[in-house]
Amino acid sequence: MIVMKFGGTSVGTAKRMEGLAERVRERLPRQPVVVVSALSGITDRLIRGARLAEAQDGAWETVIREIQERHHAVIGELFPAGPVADRLRGQVALILSELRTFYAGVHSLAELTPRTLDAISGMGERLSFEIAAATMADRGLPAQAVDARTVLVTDETFGRAAPLMEETQARCEASLRPLLGRGVVPVLGGFIASTRKGVSTTLGRGGSDWSASILGAALSAQAIEIWTDVDGMMTVDPRVVPAARVLSEVSFTEAAELAYFGAKVLHPATIKPAVEKGIPVLVLNSLNPSAPGTRITADADGTAGEARAIAFKKGISVVHISQPRMLMAYGFVARVFEAFDRHRTAVDLIATSEVSISLTVDDAARLPAVQAELATLGEVKVLQEMAIVSVVGRGFIRRPGLAARIFQALREVNVVMISFGASDVNLSFVVAEAEAEKAVRLLHREFFEEGPP
Ligand code: ASP
Ligand code: MG
Repeated sequence: MIVMKFGGTSVGTAKRMEGLAERVRERLPRQPVVVVSALSGITDRLIRGARLAEAQDGAWETVIREIQERHHAVIGELFPAGPVADRLRGQVALILSELRTFYAGVHSLAELTPRTLDAISGMGERLSFEIAAATMADRGLPAQAVDARTVLVTDETFGRAAPLMEETQARCEASLRPLLGRGVVPVLGGFIASTRKGVSTTLGRGGSDWSASILGAALSAQAIEIWTDVDGMMTVDPRVVPAARVLSEVSFTEAAELAYFGAKVLHPATIKPAVEKGIPVLVLNSLNPSAPGTRITADADGTAGEARAIAFKKGISVVHISQPRMLMAYGFVARVFEAFDRHRTAVDLIATSEVSISLTVDDAARLPAVQAELATLGEVKVLQEMAIVSVVGRGFIRRPGLAARIFQALREVNVVMISFGASDVNLSFVVAEAEAEKAVRLLHREFFEEGPP
């Protein structure tokens, strides 16, 4: 069997829903389990409504109306007036009346707990999976809606619950396996789950990929297909470099490095359960279904020492602390990190010299507070509007001449900080934001546009 997961844009309109049914039809012999996200933009809206209610702003009424209109429109396009459309509209009404109750409660208490937010934010998937299942059934597929909350069991970490694999597996065997055995296609909402006691939870934003991976691992799937709206993971952001190429295969660690840099295709942590069981994950484009996509495996082949992709991230701050007398004295570095830790500010790249330490931070919200604290430890300088550029590959450290090639390509770019050697799969450095695109273009030309060296 396989798992097919369709993201928000792949279920966002009636036309896309129909495309989904076609993709599933093509794969019927492989016994698919289908996982769908909420219609694109719905989860954001649900959360926005909750925040409005918390602020006792009655505009959440509008949010409910918008969500209703969107779903009614999709249902209206997919089904002629009749029993199926009526049933689906009835379900929408039921879920939205529950939503109204929640919003009203949050409004009157002016309090939004993580538990309540989970109940609210998961409603998009509760709306979408029924519509997806009905669409498939209407087009002659043996589809059956299954409420993911009856299958996926998690702990009680509301907002980002973690799966309890043993129980989830037992429930998959009890409820999904028999359906598959009868040739039925189970259709579930991603993102949503419940605790042992049956309280609704979510797996965190973007969590539908995680759902797919958890179900795939639990059922020992042959493959997990993540259907999205791009051709796969690419050598570089195609908006910056039009010559970007699709990567046919990447390893899990490479995918992890790329994801940090905003390759929004998927969050690798979410596919970990699958990768750990040796199940390949394919990223496919629902708008271009015949494209081969990207295959993510525990250990993709490819030559060690080759660059695979260029990634970058803007909005970075570099914090530079120098203390000629005591930098490497015992405990100094620990105190620097404690300052970041106390203000819950994550550090990404680090470089040290005998008398100074440089760090990058991508969430600068609490940087002034960190800075004030660091000032007691040494002289502090902060550079804003910087970018991290990263060359991702494999076996970098063992490859002589690679760093030379990178910096030769960048000879006209001012490199502020370098991190090399901590990971064998990337070489990262910092440049001014204004130079990031130029650096990325130069590197892409060097490694991907001019043939082998
Ligand atoms: N609908 C959820 C979100 O927008 C989960 C997902 O799409 O993966 O975060
Ligand atoms: Mg997603």
